[in-house]
Amino acid sequence: MPAKKTALIWFKTNLRLRDNECLFKAIAENDEVIPFYCLDDQLFQITAFGFKKAGDFRLKFLKESLLQLNEDLRNAGSGLLLLKGIPEKEILRLAKEQGAQTIYAEKEVAPEELTIAKKVAVELLKLDCTFLTYECRNLFHSSDLPFPVGQLPEIFTEFRKRTEKIVPVRTIYPQPSIIESPPIAPLDIAMLNELISSDITIDPRAAIQFKGGSVAAHRRLQHYFYETQAIATYKETRNGMIGERYSSKFSPWLALGCISAKEIYYEIKAFETLHGANDSTYWLIFELLWRDYFGFCMEKNASRYFLRSGNQPSKPADTKEFNDDLNKWINGQTGVPFIDANMTELKFTGFMSNRGRQNVASYLCNDLKMDWRYGAAYFEQQLTDYDVCNNWGNWAYLAGVGNDPRADRYFNIAKQAAIYDPDGRFQRLWLNYKPLENEMRWNSNG
Ligand SMILES: Cc1cc2nc3c(=O)[nH]c(=O)nc-3n(C[C@H](O)[C@H](O)[C@H](O)COP(=O)(O)OP(=O)(O)OC[C@H]3O[C@@H](n4cnc5c(N)ncnc54)[C@H](O)[C@@H]3O)c2cc1C
Repeated sequence: MPAKKTALIWFKTNLRLRDNECLFKAIAENDEVIPFYCLDDQLFQITAFGFKKAGDFRLKFLKESLLQLNEDLRNAGSGLLLLKGIPEKEILRLAKEQGAQTIYAEKEVAPEELTIAKKVAVELLKLDCTFLTYECRNLFHSSDLPFPVGQLPEIFTEFRKRTEKIVPVRTIYPQPSIIESPPIAPLDIAMLNELISSDITIDPRAAIQFKGGSVAAHRRLQHYFYETQAIATYKETRNGMIGERYSSKFSPWLALGCISAKEIYYEIKAFETLHGANDSTYWLIFELLWRDYFGFCMEKNASRYFLRSGNQPSKPADTKEFNDDLNKWINGQTGVPFIDANMTELKFTGFMSNRGRQNVASYLCNDLKMDWRYGAAYFEQQLTDYDVCNNWGNWAYLAGVGNDPRADRYFNIAKQAAIYDPDGRFQRLWLNYKPLENEMRWNSNG
């Protein structure tokens, strides 16, 4: 009898069963598969900028997402193995133990993630284990673009114009109902609890109480699209700052891949068929295109996004290192109420609106004249929705060292506060807490 074909499936930021090419291909091409997630030691360390790689909010959301993924895999007859340590060591050990011939993983584009993947591939080569990667993040597949990623336009509008009408969004991979696996040991919940505390309270003022996992992601989508139909007014409300309805809040689930951008895209199309298309339904796709764009930018420019001069090597490095201004910024104590309110929200909830992010980033770069990478590194620690491409790409863009460096990204904070928080409600919420009466709250716990 020929030997069984066994494959490992490395889950990373694609923590879902539906629309997951790695999972789909691995099942189709092998007799049995072993799904796993590796809690990389680096995730629990301090970065070069002095912040945690992942703070409490991110870790809590990750833990919830892993628990959900394990449950979904168990329901299909498989399960999730949890590894902890240095990925190339742990994955090599697992591949040896299981006699795996192939490993299926999400394609990486950012330098740190690429380095880890390369180290794993090198180790697995020693076992003759093939390393296969698939794109799981974007709406567009890189090979469907009308240009090689190396020739990606430097300006978003050009990218959009050259893609949105002609590049197809590939169809969704169905969710497998049965997954053939050898017996998978129960998820090591004790280890998960030891590494990630469940005892994290999110401030009741939070715009939304996030819960990780694909079930909560789809619940949020149902709520935002159908129960409230808030999507139909997204374009008018998206610059808001208070509450769950002004924007989709899909970002944390997208960041860990509990839901895919393609799933959201096709649900927008379904909504349009039922209720009609308008500027708002289009605008949500427009924002997902920004997300794709930052993904492709990272693939094109890789490590340059992590340099102080970013994408613009000729820019002088005249910005300041860590100093007390940074501490004041982090703790919402700059004395500028609009900045302080936003930074307090981030500190206590792990979330901030897009309008807020633009303002606090501009303030750090242009008013405090700090090295922008401290801001990006603090966001990496703090944001529940941290996404390497979106975070470092947006920061570099606002610091004037990313794509489209010609435009002036200076935000006049007083003017912004007057436009986006005219009655000071947002600032009062975070600086002077008095519970708001009749505030609508949505909770993804259901
Ligand atoms: C300095 C800075 C740092 C940021 N860091 C991150 C990050 O780490 N992770 C992250 O997901 N987003 C980041 N963003 C982008 C944006 O602020 C968030 O995606 C958005 O606020 C999340 O809320 P939402 O899901 O309700 O967004 P919505 O307005 O409902 O948008 C829908 C989706 O479109 C995408 N999107 C929207 N705006 C952008 C944008 N400017 N760039 C890329 N994608 C976008 C997101 O996936 C978002 O979930 C950052 C923006 C700035 C200015």
